Order: sequence, then C-alpha cells, then structure tokens
Amino acid sequence: MKAPPFSYARPRRLADVLSLLEKHGDEARLLAGGQTLLATLNMRLSEPSLLIDMQSVQELKGLSVTGNGLRIGAMVTHSEIESSVLVAQHAPLLSLAAPHIAHRAIRNLGTFGGSIAYGDPAAEWPACLLALDGMVIARSLQGERRIAARDFFTGLYTTELAANELIVACEIPVATPSQRFAFHELARRHGDYAVVGLAASAQWNDGELDQVRLAWIGVGNMPLRSSATEQILQGQCLSDALLAQALQTLRSELHAEADLTHSAAAKQHLAGVMLKRALNTLGRPRQLAENSNIV
Ligand SMILES: Cc1cc2nc3c(=O)[nH]c(=O)nc-3n(C[C@H](O)[C@H](O)[C@H](O)COP(=O)(O)OP(=O)(O)OC[C@H]3O[C@@H](n4cnc5c(N)ncnc54)[C@H](O)[C@@H]3O)c2cc1C
Repeated sequence: MKAPPFSYARPRRLADVLSLLEKHGDEARLLAGGQTLLATLNMRLSEPSLLIDMQSVQELKGLSVTGNGLRIGAMVTHSEIESSVLVAQHAPLLSLAAPHIAHRAIRNLGTFGGSIAYGDPAAEWPACLLALDGMVIARSLQGERRIAARDFFTGLYTTELAANELIVACEIPVATPSQRFAFHELARRHGDYAVVGLAASAQWNDGELDQVRLAWIGVGNMPLRSSATEQILQGQCLSDALLAQALQTLRSELHAEADLTHSAAAKQHLAGVMLKRALNTLGRPRQLAENSNIV
C-alpha cells in the first residue's frame, strides 16, 4: 500500500516546527527518522494532512554533558548512541542496549526522540530511560516542561505529550563509579523486537544493592518498573535466598501479557531468567560478574 497524500514541510528552526505544530495540531505529524511513521502511513493507520520533517533542525541534534546530566537531542540516531564515547562513559546502559535495536540500516535513521515519543512497550529506549530515572524535555510555543520518565508513558503507545508539544531532548543523570548496569533481552532473531527484555541499574555499595531500577520490555502495554521486586533488593547483598525471594515477588507483581508468539506463562518465565542474569551483574563485584556464566 502507499501512503495517502499529505503536504510536507522541512523547517530549519525549532521555532518554525513549533508554529506549524500549533497551527495544524492533530492534523500534523512530526517526521524524525521515519522508521515507524512511514510504515504506519503506508499501512494507512495514520492519515495526517501535513508531515513536518525535523531532519534540518540542528537544535534537536547532538549529545552533550551539562552539569550532572547527559543530554540526548531528540534527533540523535540509535547508531550515534551506539558508537558514542560520551554515552559509553556516562550512560553505559544505553551502549549495552543499542545493538539490540533492529538492524544497522534502521539504527542509522531511527532516533532517540522518535522511539521515546512512540512509546512502544517492546522498544529498548523507553525502558532504558525508566531504568536510568531519565527526564523528557518537551517544548511547545507556550514553553518547556520536564517530565520524569516514570510519568511520561501512560499506556499503549500513549504518552504525556500534548498535540502541540514535541520532545526536544532527554536527560539522563551521569553514571557514578558505584553504579552498575545490566541489559538483557530475548528476541526470536537478532534485531527483532524483544519478546522480553530488562534494563536494570543499581548502586553497589560494598555488596549492598541500593536504588535498584528494573524496567521491563515486552511484558505489558507500556514499559514497566517492578517496584515491589526493587524494594525486596534494597539494602541487601546478593545471595541464593535473596534471589529466590526476588523471583517470587516478581512472579506476583509482573503480570506478563501474551503476544502473537509467546504465552503469558512463557514471558513470565523468561522475565525470571532475565532477572537472574541482571542480578548476577548488579549484585557482584565487577570482576566476578564479568567472569561468571550464571544463566
Ligand atoms: C523492521 C524494523 C524493526 C524495528 N525494530 C526495533 C527494535 O527492535 N527496537 C526498537 O526500539 N525499535 C525498533 N524499530 C523502530 C525504530 O527503532 C524507530 O527508529 C523508532 O520507533 C523511532 O522511529 P523514528 O525515530 O524513525 O521516528 P518516526 O518514525 O519518524 O516517528 C515515530 C513517531 O514519533 C513521533 N515523533 C518523532 N520524533 C518526535 C519528537 N521529537 N517529539 C514528538 N514526537 C515525535 C512521530 O510523529 C511519530 O508519531 C524497528 C523499525 C523497523 C522498521
């Protein structure tokens, strides 16, 4: 199928994007890398009268460290994140997750802002933003607002963004030396969307886990944290007993939903496997975790 007819604008300034968005509201769609939007247009799931292409807007590009935060411009591509030394140093969870996103050709065009705005429950970036206590920076002609990742995703492909707002950037607190990260996912083939995935972070204080964040991919209708399981781990040292307790809590709080290929029970089981793998990294001295093969 082909996309329905639409008008096309390619402004150079953010102010012009915002004016067009304000004027056309829900009739307009922002075009980032087009890696999701063009498919939905071709399938006629969406029929906007205007596409506002953001490729020429420099204000939406670039990675930088400002104070204690890593700022990721909305138009930064998945590939730029994957190869960035700044990201590897300050937000290593993103470096671990990036290779799991689709294939190179898609990563070269798809953007961080586009993925966050789309809010796919099976996508990697929304879960990473949750696990890192990230912030979404949204702008409209009325001004800017900062929305914590935990408040941003509201349901299936729905977010806090208003029709006249766009994401200009996301901010992530820079990693501290005592912070640990783990990213695991299972997909049918490399590059497919995850069946189940887990983006996790924690502080490791001489063996005690602190500020544990477990953000799940592909288990519900939006990226989800499992706060009861996080609480069980708080202030504890990793042991077989703690692992068993965490798995039991996860089973009772995470109600995985079936998809086209996997039953809810299979996903629930896989979530437990992901949790074990993540805790093996988060809860052990770095050297031991790197050399261990626990599954
Ligand atoms: C074959 C295939 C496999 C894929 N596999 C994966 C995968 O495994 N994991 C994964 O995470 N993704 C996957 N994707 C999706 C891909 O990562 C996209 O890059 C991602 O969904 C965002 O698309 P985009 O940046 O190209 O945005 P677009 O497609 O241009 O836009 C997506 C939506 O977000 C809106 N939008 C875009 N930017 C902004 C902004 N700054 N502010 C507000 N709204 C905005 C658009 O209006 C549109 O509604 C796959 C895509 C394909 C085609």
